[in-house]
Amino acid sequence: MDDLHSFSWYAAKLKKLLPPEAFKPVPTRLFGGLTYLIITITVISLIGLNDFHPLVLLIFSIILGSCFAGLGFLGHEILHGTVVRKAWLRDLLGAMAFWPLNTGPTLWRKWHNLNHHVHTQHEENDPDAWPTLERISKMRMFKWIYGLPLFIRSFFAFASLTVQFSAHSLKMFFTYVKEFNRKKQRDIWMQMILPWISWLSLIFVIGFRNWLFAYLVPLLIANFIVMAYISTNHRLNPLTPVNDPLANSLTVTVPKIVDILHFNFSYHTEHHLFPGMNPKYYPIVKQHIKAMWPERYHEMPMTEALIALWQTPRVYQMHTNLIDPKNRKTYGSLGNNLNLKSISRNSERLKKAVLKNPTRKG
Ligand SMILES: [Zn+2]
Ligand SMILES: [Zn+2]
Repeated sequence: MDDLHSFSWYAAKLKKLLPPEAFKPVPTRLFGGLTYLIITITVISLIGLNDFHPLVLLIFSIILGSCFAGLGFLGHEILHGTVVRKAWLRDLLGAMAFWPLNTGPTLWRKWHNLNHHVHTQHEENDPDAWPTLERISKMRMFKWIYGLPLFIRSFFAFASLTVQFSAHSLKMFFTYVKEFNRKKQRDIWMQMILPWISWLSLIFVIGFRNWLFAYLVPLLIANFIVMAYISTNHRLNPLTPVNDPLANSLTVTVPKIVDILHFNFSYHTEHHLFPGMNPKYYPIVKQHIKAMWPERYHEMPMTEALIALWQTPRVYQMHTNLIDPKNRKTYGSLGNNLNLKSISRNSERLKKAVLKNPTRKG
């Protein structure tokens, strides 16, 4: 990995090819959020006012979970400043959009904008990066968890996607809250507690059984949807000493309707190059990247990225390899001979995606 470039190196070359309006805030993106909000309030009211069969309630939960996730994607965009510029309004709208996921805007900007984006896939400084073999060897749980066969670990890893965003958000809360001054700390506590108070109060309004389907199950579904993206954004890529989005990020592809519902969140490499850009323009950025650096760019259908995630361990060795500590089998990573033989039998497209990215020196 001796030919890495920072995101600003790519951005400087791409920016002149993009229309200036791509960098202007677009308040009309809020109509999508308003639609999700109206559906959420309507469905929760329906659940509270009626006595539905559990199967009907489950359908409502799926609708609500999809709305919570959609609002989360919009919240991410709002807090990057692509919707409104005024800081107080940005934070207020971001807080509303992240309300179902109970993540406050101040914590999110610190965790995501100032750390994940700045230090992407840095071994120590990216709060979202997976650990190296050296680091995990010092953890007490290490021996027990990594003594289990890979498919059992993968099963539990996938099951945990239903709680992973909430759990990681809580971990980030305790990681970063102490770095703020007293007043900000109070704000951050309030931004976390108020959503929880509101959701728990709902139990007394609609009853516990209804609440399970109106909030808890939708929260698990929303966790799974957002984590399906977050877990594939970087976890098949190498750790990189330079924050090079083409090396350390993966753009997944999803059906067009899903991109509309999720505000183009699938374009993650493009997002890391231009986090402040209106995501409507990411397909144009993608065209330019593929024309200029086709051998560096990583792109994969979401389903195949998830299969690849299932079939690989989540521990890094020498930054460019994923290694199974149980049997020391190594799997490479995207751009570094990611070993997906068992998948490529089922997927010629993935095979092509892997072959398109020849090995770089590690
Ligand atoms: Zn990212
Ligand atoms: Zn972001």
